[in-house]
Amino acid sequence: MHVEELDRNYLFHPMTNLAAHAENGPHMTIVEGHGATVTDRAGRDYLDAMAGLWCVNVGYAHPEMAEALREQALKLPYFHAFSSMGTDLPARLSERLINMAPVPMSKVFYGNSGSDANDTQAKLVWYYNNVLGRPMKKKIIARRRGYHGVTVLSGGLTGLKNLHDGFDLPLPMIRHIRPPHGLWEREPGQTDDEFATTLAIELDRFIVNEGPETVAALIAEPVMAAGGVIVPPDTYFPKIQEVLDKYDVLLIADEVVNGFGRLGVSFGSVSTNMKPDLMTVAKGITSAYVPLSAVLVSDKVWQVLLDGSAKYGSFGHGYTYSAHPLAAAAAMTNLDIIERDGLVDRVAENGKLLHELLHTAFADHPNVGEIRGRGLMAAVEFVESREPLRPFAQQGAFAGAVTRAALENGVITRALPAADTVSFSPPFVTTPDELERMVAGVRAGLDHAVGELRS
Ligand code: PLP
Repeated sequence: MHVEELDRNYLFHPMTNLAAHAENGPHMTIVEGHGATVTDRAGRDYLDAMAGLWCVNVGYAHPEMAEALREQALKLPYFHAFSSMGTDLPARLSERLINMAPVPMSKVFYGNSGSDANDTQAKLVWYYNNVLGRPMKKKIIARRRGYHGVTVLSGGLTGLKNLHDGFDLPLPMIRHIRPPHGLWEREPGQTDDEFATTLAIELDRFIVNEGPETVAALIAEPVMAAGGVIVPPDTYFPKIQEVLDKYDVLLIADEVVNGFGRLGVSFGSVSTNMKPDLMTVAKGITSAYVPLSAVLVSDKVWQVLLDGSAKYGSFGHGYTYSAHPLAAAAAMTNLDIIERDGLVDRVAENGKLLHELLHTAFADHPNVGEIRGRGLMAAVEFVESREPLRPFAQQGAFAGAVTRAALENGVITRALPAADTVSFSPPFVTTPDELERMVAGVRAGLDHAVGELRS
């Protein structure tokens, strides 16, 4: 049986139309990858403009990553971190993460995915307020279009309706507010700063309305990824933070995509002037060679968690794979490569090129509403009309057509579910020539989609 047939018969894929997939199966099976290129079973090469799902930052099949994993697997593939047990690499990695953190952080807790790490964040926030004797202070505010995962808790934090439908999400303690998406949310004529002020005032009213004694935390990606690569105004987070401080509400930075250099600086919090109390990282921490996530906890929160011991005894949270030595080996080597090869500076440099290429290729097109991003993270949002500004009636269909055509041209990009947007998040090692070919492939995809629209 062909692997495509096995796939169709026995596997069901995340984020697919299940009925359509059961009927038609996978379009392609990727069997190999090197640098920014992946190869399918038929031997056709594709430039991966998305680094998988925003994650293969050092590129595919990096020999040092393979060697580090082999060495660790032969030495100690696994031991757990429960009770007083531990292994050496997670301890070393924790010190490194604390030293790298964009704001002072105190402790690290490991998980396996961005989703479970954000569930951990919610549990920490609830535990924190229980220890402080504030059992009512439990609501977590997230933003529409934000992406924080798909587990029972984090799936609700995610502000995308299609991830709630059919699952009875979000859970009752979750609330959503407006995102800082200038194209659709900003009043005509408003400056960036005025837009930020409006959103901060709205948040203040929102918290007062909910009751500040019931609101525990706000979770936010510095630059939103899956919601459409949404870059906030520079003053947005400082203004939001003032409101949070006023009501003693914690800030959780979801750095799952932004962290470790994607924006051309170490962390998204640096890029967007965020000063979180808690941070979530995953994806780029190992360049996805092995699943790993981590929660970074500030001293303010840590001191309260410590006080919890007297009240609750042992901290009742942790996974079989928390602090997995193989994952820690992948993370250490991945961070070594990024540091040694100056990849964050390369992201900043190549990011400029990517944005220039996107502007040259897309800015004048009548169906392009906005080109945005930072570093090697960018998006082009399509609209039915620019003047007056009007979205396509069937949201996402046009970007889907562009993406499919780009794939035919040998470029993998991603149509984001929340908008008519295609995104770019290539590996940090992508060369200027590859960036040019990625943009050209998607631009040709746009022509094809326009042709389809007219026919
Ligand atoms: N947070 C952000 C910002 C993400 O983009 C994602 C996944 O794309 C997650 C959390 C969830 O991570 P995972 O898919 O590893 O559970």
